[in-house]
Amino acid sequence: MITQERDGWELPDWQRQQADLITDPAELLDLLGLTPGDLPSCLAAAGDFPLRVPRSYAALMEPGNPDDPLLRQVLSVPEELREQPGYGADPLEEGEHTAVPGLLHKYHGRALLVVTGACAVHCRYCFRRHFPYQSHLSGKRWDQALAWLAERPDIHEVILSGGDPLTLNNRRLAQLLDALAGIPHLRRLRIHSRTPVVIPERLDEGLLERLANPRWRTVLVLHANHPREISASLADRCRQWQRAGITLLNQSVLLAGVNDEVEALVALSDRLHEAGVLPYYLHQLDRVQGAAHFAVADAKALELHRALRARLPGFLVPRLSREEPGEPAKTVLAG
Ligand SMILES: *Cc1c(COP(=O)(O)O)cnc(C)c1O
Ligand code: SF4
Repeated sequence: MITQERDGWELPDWQRQQADLITDPAELLDLLGLTPGDLPSCLAAAGDFPLRVPRSYAALMEPGNPDDPLLRQVLSVPEELREQPGYGADPLEEGEHTAVPGLLHKYHGRALLVVTGACAVHCRYCFRRHFPYQSHLSGKRWDQALAWLAERPDIHEVILSGGDPLTLNNRRLAQLLDALAGIPHLRRLRIHSRTPVVIPERLDEGLLERLANPRWRTVLVLHANHPREISASLADRCRQWQRAGITLLNQSVLLAGVNDEVEALVALSDRLHEAGVLPYYLHQLDRVQGAAHFAVADAKALELHRALRARLPGFLVPRLSREEPGEPAKTVLAG
């Protein structure tokens, strides 16, 4: 649940959007002029990871197209209920890398903070859809994680993740950033977020002021999968953030029926670059229960990557990668 602040002030626009999400599949389908096919099965598949879509994201979908690549990312389908061998609840064995609750330490010099369990959108392929957020976020919140970081001078980069860290309001984020700023060996601040893609207004002035602070080298990693997700308003804001000195990157997940064709991936890189964002990773799907219908075979993924290299300048080709438990870095299948 998103906690709303009501101090007698109007909520910022992005927070109002975040409080007014579409959560009923029938409403979403109706908005798009689609007749529900097997709605009961879709609802059953949604289970404990229900539909959650900002209206501004729904507005980017193509009306009348049941196979729309944006719709496919958010609407549950009966295939999710099928058990698939090799697909589990914690595909990355993140349980094993939890240094203290709310902090994952897996790679040299970097630590990842699970700052919230909330997201502005629920993505059907999400590898953390079964993540035990309760056990990470209960109790004293960030205190233990901050204490751990303070004692680890080998950690130079803190990554805010979740859930989605930008679902937190600026006041909450400022509290966390102030605490982190007091830990001298932390130099790089990285934020992984999909919120700006679904609610571009989240990239607001107050947040920019905080992040463009000389205390940090700040990197914002967006999560866009399809060229149509780079709306004009997102691109405008990204360009403004880039001018302010924030490094902007994007990571995508390769998803069957969403972006598993050359034209979509070429257009995505082009549009990102026009917005001042460089493609970083193109991830092979993590094998999470309920997401098997999004999987793209490695052979096809490699072929797509070769085609991208033939079409784009090298700096607009994302690294095709996969996360393998126990490895010292993400495994790059093609660079
Ligand atoms: C992906 C990930 C990182 C960041 O990896 P980069 O290759 O630096 O982007 C850091 N920590 C954890 C736990 C991760 O899953
Ligand atoms: S926004 Fe990110 S963490 Fe949240 S559901 Fe989507 S992929 Fe998962």
